[in-house]
Amino acid sequence: MTEHGQAATERVFNFSAGPAVLPMPVLERARDEMLSLPGVGMSVLEISHRSPAFDRILEETLGELRGLLGIGAEYELVLLQGGASLQFSMVPMNLLRGQSAAADYILTGTWGITGAKEARREGAVHVAWDGGSTNYDRLPEPGEVRLSSNPAYVHVTSNETIQGVQWKHDPDVGSAPLVCDCSSDFLSRPIDVAKYGLIYACAQKNAGIAGVTAVIIRKDLLERSTDSLPTMLDYRTHVKNGSRPNTPPVFAVYILGLVCRWLRESMGGLSGIQRHNAMKSRLLYDVIDASGGFYAGHARPDCRSDMNVTFRLPDESLEKEFVKGATARGLMDLKGHRSVGGIRASIYNAMPVAGVEALRDYMVEFQRSRRA
Ligand SMILES: *Cc1c(COP(=O)(O)O)cnc(C)c1O
Repeated sequence: MTEHGQAATERVFNFSAGPAVLPMPVLERARDEMLSLPGVGMSVLEISHRSPAFDRILEETLGELRGLLGIGAEYELVLLQGGASLQFSMVPMNLLRGQSAAADYILTGTWGITGAKEARREGAVHVAWDGGSTNYDRLPEPGEVRLSSNPAYVHVTSNETIQGVQWKHDPDVGSAPLVCDCSSDFLSRPIDVAKYGLIYACAQKNAGIAGVTAVIIRKDLLERSTDSLPTMLDYRTHVKNGSRPNTPPVFAVYILGLVCRWLRESMGGLSGIQRHNAMKSRLLYDVIDASGGFYAGHARPDCRSDMNVTFRLPDESLEKEFVKGATARGLMDLKGHRSVGGIRASIYNAMPVAGVEALRDYMVEFQRSRRA
């Protein structure tokens, strides 16, 4: 597979926060195999989830993920449904239920807040840090986080998709199991899995399409799950049945596998894609920094996301005009999330450099035209 495959006519640049742009070679391969998987004679949309064809797809996808992320033998990897949102509930159901300690949440934006809200239904939640006083524009400074005594786990969000704030190093939370919602930067850079108790991520930002969610869990933590849990909400059910206790989202697993393969074969794995992503985000942040305040980045420069570039223009009518002009050029879905406003350019793994360059050129031109 090539970096981004052959250019398809009429394709726009999709800056959506998710579901999001997919690599062209993945789309092309899915198209080519749509009517018949090689050697199978049926579409991947039609095969049984118990067929040898799907055995192979599932095994390959799990193997690719383990290889890319360097997941050690002390960890289970399962593919679930229900999105990252269901993990907001499953994490506390499995790791907090029956524990006397609290679960600590470090709140760096909207998704962390949403996760903490669900955890409160299950047990005691302690907010160890909250970036609300500066409108979630940064990460905690060393020493600002106040953990409870011996927390059941500490939850962080590696990349806040709405605010565009991203951890640049693994959070240090002492001996407590670290739980991370990696939904919007999963597979966009290497991660030291051994520092985490549990990592979860939906696929539809960087890793594929909606319908499948990866969960990586340290084996000893599985012992916390209690038999009071509904069968399908118990991590042990999914581990025991190899991610197949019931019908899995076959097509979403297949696409996830193709994306992993593209990362490994064409993008230099996770360190390769990390360099690629950092280079892309720099193109936009450089314009913001050189704009003399015309473009005002939301996140503090040292906390900026390589995935979601968030910024404002001098007023809302200019922002509307900016989005309208962008759309006319085929730069789609740049409107910021309704809760924070402004502009958000999501430039995940599969966003080609040409797309980011087109946006950069448009930003420079738009500012120039306003000043003229
Ligand atoms: C998109 C997103 C979610 C929600 O994912 P769903 O699959 O829609 O439930 C949660 N957390 C983060 C960080 C996200 O980016």
